[in-house]
Amino acid sequence: MAQKNVRPAPALPALDVPHKRERYVPGDIEPKWQERWARDRLYETPDSDPGRPNFYFVTMFPYPSGDLHVGHWYAMTPSDASARFVRMRGHNVLFPMGFDAFGLNAENAAIKTGVHPSDNTERNMANMRRQFRLMGTMIDWRREVVTCHADFYRWNQWLFLRLFERGLAYRAKAPVNWCPKDQTALANEQVINGLCERCDTPVTKKDLVQWFFKITAYADELLRFDGLDWPERVRVMQTNWIGRSEGAELAFDVAGSGEKIRFFTTRPDTIFGATFMVLAPEHPLVASITTPDRRAAVDAYVTAARQATEIERTSTEREKTGVDTGGFAVNAFTGERIPVWVADYVLATYGTGAIMAVPAHDERDFAFARKYGLEIREVISPDGTEHARLDEAYIGEGVMVRSGAFTGKPSEEGKRAVAEDAGRRGIGAGSVIYRLRDWLISRQRYWGTPIPIVHCAACGAVPVPYDQLPIELPYDVEITPDGGSPLARKRDFIETTCPKCSGPAERDPDTMDTFVDSSWYMYRYPDPNDSQRFMNPDIAKKWLPVTRYTGGIEHAILHLLYARFVCKALADMGELWFREPFTHLRNQGTIVFEGRKMSKSRGNVQAPDAYVARYGADTLRLFMGFMGPWTAGADWDGSGIEGVYRFLHRVWDVALTPAGDGPRDVELDGTVQRTIGKVTGDLEQYHFNTAISALMELARALMHASGPSRDDGVRALLLLLAPLAPHIAEELWHRRGATSSIHLERWPAFDAAKAAPRVVTIVVQVDGKVRDRIEAPAGLDRKAAEALALASERVRASLDGRTPVSVIVVPDRLVNVVTK
Ligand SMILES: [Zn+2]
Ligand SMILES: [Zn+2]
Repeated sequence: MAQKNVRPAPALPALDVPHKRERYVPGDIEPKWQERWARDRLYETPDSDPGRPNFYFVTMFPYPSGDLHVGHWYAMTPSDASARFVRMRGHNVLFPMGFDAFGLNAENAAIKTGVHPSDNTERNMANMRRQFRLMGTMIDWRREVVTCHADFYRWNQWLFLRLFERGLAYRAKAPVNWCPKDQTALANEQVINGLCERCDTPVTKKDLVQWFFKITAYADELLRFDGLDWPERVRVMQTNWIGRSEGAELAFDVAGSGEKIRFFTTRPDTIFGATFMVLAPEHPLVASITTPDRRAAVDAYVTAARQATEIERTSTEREKTGVDTGGFAVNAFTGERIPVWVADYVLATYGTGAIMAVPAHDERDFAFARKYGLEIREVISPDGTEHARLDEAYIGEGVMVRSGAFTGKPSEEGKRAVAEDAGRRGIGAGSVIYRLRDWLISRQRYWGTPIPIVHCAACGAVPVPYDQLPIELPYDVEITPDGGSPLARKRDFIETTCPKCSGPAERDPDTMDTFVDSSWYMYRYPDPNDSQRFMNPDIAKKWLPVTRYTGGIEHAILHLLYARFVCKALADMGELWFREPFTHLRNQGTIVFEGRKMSKSRGNVQAPDAYVARYGADTLRLFMGFMGPWTAGADWDGSGIEGVYRFLHRVWDVALTPAGDGPRDVELDGTVQRTIGKVTGDLEQYHFNTAISALMELARALMHASGPSRDDGVRALLLLLAPLAPHIAEELWHRRGATSSIHLERWPAFDAAKAAPRVVTIVVQVDGKVRDRIEAPAGLDRKAAEALALASERVRASLDGRTPVSVIVVPDRLVNVVTK
């Protein structure tokens, strides 16, 4: 259903405002305005508005955990202020909100409380919508997206099928990351330093048949950020995560067998120094290569390694261990037989799961060779001469030595030369590998989107036809986690017929990772009710791609990388006309309480309600911006909130005190203009803290002024404050006689001429005789005026080395230097 173009009512009737001065009581004015804005549909954004270019401002949607805590306020209210600022600057701003409503949080809460995740989620969302309203946000609720509703997740299933058609969704058996606490597989991106991203439990490995999205098909394109206004930090994190390395993929024969060990190296120039090989414990050749006398030791080692977590295995602190398989490979360049070991510092998930070990030029291999008495042979020399013994690995560039026909070549050149030679001899070729793995999206849990695949004994994995979507998630399911998918036990869901052969078949029992939902939800907001397509291109073209995106830095890799991948895949299907979903991105830092990130799962959440009750939403909104640079994050400490509250009281008093008569005050006019310039620049850059400081200074300056300049200053103050503290700005705007909302006003224009400080001519005398005239900005204090006078060449010549006894300053007019 298309969105109706409803223009917000332009004029509001005047409120019945009592004329006597009153105290600032946020609890009296905030609910009143929230109600009024909703009634006047002030934040319902039309799909187009002549003269106001569209601007699509999205902030990451929350999990419906039940309450908007201080961390949410920190994410949402500065974003809301930014969106309001852009709107006042003349844009038609769409600022939507939704709920990332599937996932383990809701399911685990349900297990604990016995309330069904659907019921619990609906209740939580209702409460959070109410809280969003209490914040005073400009959200257009007509465009809400809720991922656990079938009218949303059917398009998840559609996306899955489209990816499947193009070979970008596939099923494979793999050793996957397993969270023993959450009882589900995880994507690599959800394992942070070896721990589950959700619950910090060490992740183990498990062999499972799972669905993957082929994000690696876009690895190279994901490394390019052309035209994106994104923080450097996020680009670096994604680049490192994708981890592109150039080198060569080569293969050595296993001695006495037809098998080969394939490996990747970034240093083909060191190949003559490969004195042994190492296989990951999971490597498929381990079993066949191991000699009978070594079998028991190898089996024991492999079993132990599989129980270790990745963080333990790759820790630099931990001493490397390994076991000799008894087998040998043949170094194709030296022709020597070299021993093959198994060691858990080699991971099956990186490269081929095997390495050529060059102890002379790799620190880990060096330590391993020292420990087990394996040969260390120098083949790259920093100075071109051979050294008999190395005390440590030399990992830099140099000249190839002890390297047959390549001896004497610079190592940089040798990399290519060896790879080319290997290519000619059929040993391998130059190649590129990535650290990035395909995105594992199967979850063995209930509260998610059912995977639209039917498994048939005759036909295999058969996609559900599009016209049978959505496959609805059944309500009545026992969701106690036991390592299997709860849906598997729901026989009337699982048992079905094959869409291809009509024989008996079973539905896939897993659900999708909730990061699938969030990878494309922003395409749904412009027309969330379209039942024919995942989005309505006529409407979406007016908004997409997202003009500005804000959210937590913790999503630098996970959500933001997945969203970029899905965007590119949809573009290649012809569904999107752009290849990057978010043109401009800014991340707020993390809000920390008692040394840890504030989150419900960590149990250190600070509830904002008490603060709102005591100080009002406007004060809390301002305080969120005032705590420090938004992108840097902050330590939550509510103690500074009083100062912000006092500032709003001052604004209240200043705005409601009659300006009185008097001449124009050029100084004050300049201060007002400079504040406009400062706040505008700061809000463009999300520097809320310095913008608020500038407003505090302006309010102080206005207190002691009178006349028309004060009147204009108060008007500017309220307009500049409106995005940050929307309720009080609106109330004072009306109390001062306005009849329409301040949020429909234009942002005050900056007048550079008025902002420039006034220039005065200061006469400088020495002992009463005029020696110089200096142009200076008006309002210099005594010290600055004195310093300026004494710096004058003419004054110094006149003084001729004499030390002044005293200096008399008449501000903006005269400096007299007295020497006797
Ligand atoms: Zn976990
Ligand atoms: Zn079939």
